[in-house]
Amino acid sequence: MSRTRVARMSALYAPTLKEDPAEAELASHKLMLRAGMIRKQAAGLYSYLPLAWRSLRKIEDIIRDEMDAAGAQEMLLPILTDAELWQKSGRWSAYGPELMRVHDRHDREFALGPTHEETITDLITNELKSYKQLPVNLYQIQDKFRDEMRPRFGLMRGREFIMKDGYSFNATQESLQETYDAMKDAYANICERCGLKALPVVADSGQIGGDTSVEFMALAEAGEAALVYCDGCGFAADEEAASTKVAVTEGPGDGTLQKVHTPGMGTIEAVAEFFGFPQNGTRKSLALIAEDGTPVVCIVPGDHELNDCKAEKLFGSYHLMTEEELVENGLHKGFIGPVNLPDGIRLVVDETLRGSKQWACGANEVDYHFTGACPGRDFEVDEWADLITVQAGDPCPHCGKPLSGARGIEVSQVFQLGTKYSESMGATFTDEDGKEKPFLMGCYGVGVSRTMAAVIEQHNDENGIIWPVSVAPYEVSVITLDKKGDAFDEAGRIAEALAAAGIDVVFDDRAERPGVKFADNDLMGFPYQVIVGKRGLANGTVEVKERATGERCDVPVEEVVCYLAERIEAARA
Ligand code: ATP
Ligand code: MG
Repeated sequence: MSRTRVARMSALYAPTLKEDPAEAELASHKLMLRAGMIRKQAAGLYSYLPLAWRSLRKIEDIIRDEMDAAGAQEMLLPILTDAELWQKSGRWSAYGPELMRVHDRHDREFALGPTHEETITDLITNELKSYKQLPVNLYQIQDKFRDEMRPRFGLMRGREFIMKDGYSFNATQESLQETYDAMKDAYANICERCGLKALPVVADSGQIGGDTSVEFMALAEAGEAALVYCDGCGFAADEEAASTKVAVTEGPGDGTLQKVHTPGMGTIEAVAEFFGFPQNGTRKSLALIAEDGTPVVCIVPGDHELNDCKAEKLFGSYHLMTEEELVENGLHKGFIGPVNLPDGIRLVVDETLRGSKQWACGANEVDYHFTGACPGRDFEVDEWADLITVQAGDPCPHCGKPLSGARGIEVSQVFQLGTKYSESMGATFTDEDGKEKPFLMGCYGVGVSRTMAAVIEQHNDENGIIWPVSVAPYEVSVITLDKKGDAFDEAGRIAEALAAAGIDVVFDDRAERPGVKFADNDLMGFPYQVIVGKRGLANGTVEVKERATGERCDVPVEEVVCYLAERIEAARA
């Protein structure tokens, strides 16, 4: 191991900015620009300056440690990938414009790897031959290229970014499951050790009910994904994909069908208010045209929305009826309902309404609603289906506790690929029974640069970044308030002693005003600041400030190394 050296702020290449850069919306993007960590080269292309690079390397080392502990082996594949491989797998065309394509001087085509299933599968073909050699789990940490339609938010969605990608080759489903589960555990550890609060969200469920893909979502307002999760049982899902068992309220009335004059009340809000009833007790009707031209009326609880993804699965590329289409189908905007529905319209009702018998709903007549409408008695339902977007407060589908809502950043994903690539690329092994079989594969990716951005997104305040110790570019900064003299020399000695104790330390030796130094150190977010001034030294103390809490403490000079070493050791992960 190399010796820890003191870095000098006067020599550090970290050009800070006083103002928020106009181009940045997200806290992480703004702060990385302001703290002199990154600079944009072109859309989605960033240079990582020394502070960012140090933090990235720490994240990578945490990943390496977890991967190696789980039995994976690090290696490195070429970034350029031959078009032939992509043609074999079928992805040369399927990947579309996101694949960055180049050709060499002989006009041979290549792609800058966006991911490496093809390359790794090609690598092991004809070399991994027997079940006896399996499982094998290989990974690399490398720049990836994707010509994203909208590169944005700094490192969150770049066109060149750092990814750890890993691939396993297994002989049996049980073995794949084992590797996959080990990777899932390692991924949870990686998030935790980087200081990320993240939820494992089931992205895909297998036939036997277990998950075959999980995305780790770092919780952050800035996240692109809307999530619901349960504090009770740990269930978490993408809002788009989640289902629920909402308890719906019955509408008003005495159980008989009543037509009520509701002049001008064409919205759920107005109807609920008129009946003095929660919106959940009303039924929302949505008229649409399915891809095959069938007119459909969907009914959902009044306080929920029709989910676009779920509707698309059921109806293909559908659209909500236009005013003309409503007229053509004999429907009245704001007063659509299941009773007396014109012939030929398919009635599809959300699952959560099964068993509810007293509906307040449109009467298919302008300015009228029904109360007490009962399925089976007053109208027939053609199909029950999961139609709604789950909301915070809805019951957890597993344990019934109310779900919480959050937004998330996808930082990593584990995936059981099965034989998708091994089959198309002819990668087989000889199994115990002497038969030739395609490998079962898994793939496991961590967005390394995105993880760093997500860490900052979760750890910042109005003054700047608040690094968790485990991934901080420097764990301690020693700030001298004097430009020279005894205090300056003492600060230098303390920095050296900290480095000798294996602590990553930067010495703010710049000839700047204290105010500028404090602002920069807060902005760069080092977990501990040691402030060395004449006045403290007269009493034999220095001040230690913890960035996260703002707490300050006078510590005797001779104890400061121990004081910090103890705290840092505990927080290093
Ligand atoms: P997204 O849905 O955000 O586009 P993805 O599901 O396509 O991501 P994967 O193929 O699963 O991404 O890649 C593995 C990881 O690489 C992701 O979990 C994410 O952290 C990271 N990643 C993907 N695309 C980018 C990008 N354009 N910039 C930075 N990191 C990225
Ligand atoms: Mg993904």
